[in-house]
Amino acid sequence: MTSPVSPLPLPLSFEFYPPKTDDQRVQFDRTVRKLKGHAPQFMSVTFGAGGSTLSHTPETVQRLRSDHGVAGVPHLTCVGGSREEIRSLLKLYRALGCDRIVALRGDLPSGMARSGDLRHASELVKLIRDEHGDHFKIEVAANPETHPQADDAHADLRHFKTKVDAGANSAITQYFYNPDAYFRFVEDARKLGVEIPIVPGIMPIANFSQLRRFSDACGAEIPRWISQRMRALGDDSEGIREFASDIVANLCRRLIDGGAPALHFYTLNMAKPTLAVLERLD
Ligand code: FAD
Repeated sequence: MTSPVSPLPLPLSFEFYPPKTDDQRVQFDRTVRKLKGHAPQFMSVTFGAGGSTLSHTPETVQRLRSDHGVAGVPHLTCVGGSREEIRSLLKLYRALGCDRIVALRGDLPSGMARSGDLRHASELVKLIRDEHGDHFKIEVAANPETHPQADDAHADLRHFKTKVDAGANSAITQYFYNPDAYFRFVEDARKLGVEIPIVPGIMPIANFSQLRRFSDACGAEIPRWISQRMRALGDDSEGIREFASDIVANLCRRLIDGGAPALHFYTLNMAKPTLAVLERLD
């Protein structure tokens, strides 16, 4: 799988959700074609915890690998799934040629009662390592602003270390807009003896009210000054786009200057918001 060379001094990766309809597939293909030019190290595909994207995620990973010639990487969640379901997905991903996986606990859709055989992402990492040795490079999630269900930041950091000790090779963070939260998290993790790369997750801002909803759910903080500027811009959609791209590009610059090992973009299957940030960085 060959790709053009990225003009940025560090590796990039892009995250997608699996398209389910023909229209979504058209948009997905268009977005992948546009972002491929930035030579990502991989493009990952989310997985609906509890099996809501059971076939769509593998299909999309295969689409990335065979139709687009890029390293498609599956996300795999354990909550709501049985060990056997997880084992058969791992087998399928090996058969598709995958050697990297994003291993997560996931969040069950509200109302779904089935909790599954594994409770924490660390158990999933252990299962993958026990049964597949070093075949997969395992990425796990990290939360610089603390996972919303954690008792406190220290407990969350200890649980993060458990995933690393279970065999994770690298971590991708939940998105954030305060770079100090990332730098402090990395420093605290290093003090605990965590040595793996911790890659910042970057969420370009396309739709501010949607972002506020996501942020309430995942515990990411939107700084007050950003909300206030957004409110002041009102219906000025061009102004909002410019401001949003500038603040995310500035965040990326701070992260690059501060030694981030790579950048992982949450694309939400749209090319424009991510490209607007990358153009500013180039
Ligand atoms: P864990 O590491 O298991 O942690 C979850 C919570 O449990 C934390 O509060 C932690 O402190 C606590 N915990 C962990 N271990 C223990 C323990 N032994 N005892 C007590 N408490 C413990 N979700 C999806 O559904 N599909 C996706 O494809 C997806 N992709 C993602 C990609 C990235 C890069 C990131 C950052 C998140 C993604 N998520 C996805 C969201 C993720 O599933 C949620 O944040 C979820 O709530 C936690 O997942 P985790 O892997 O961090 O879980």
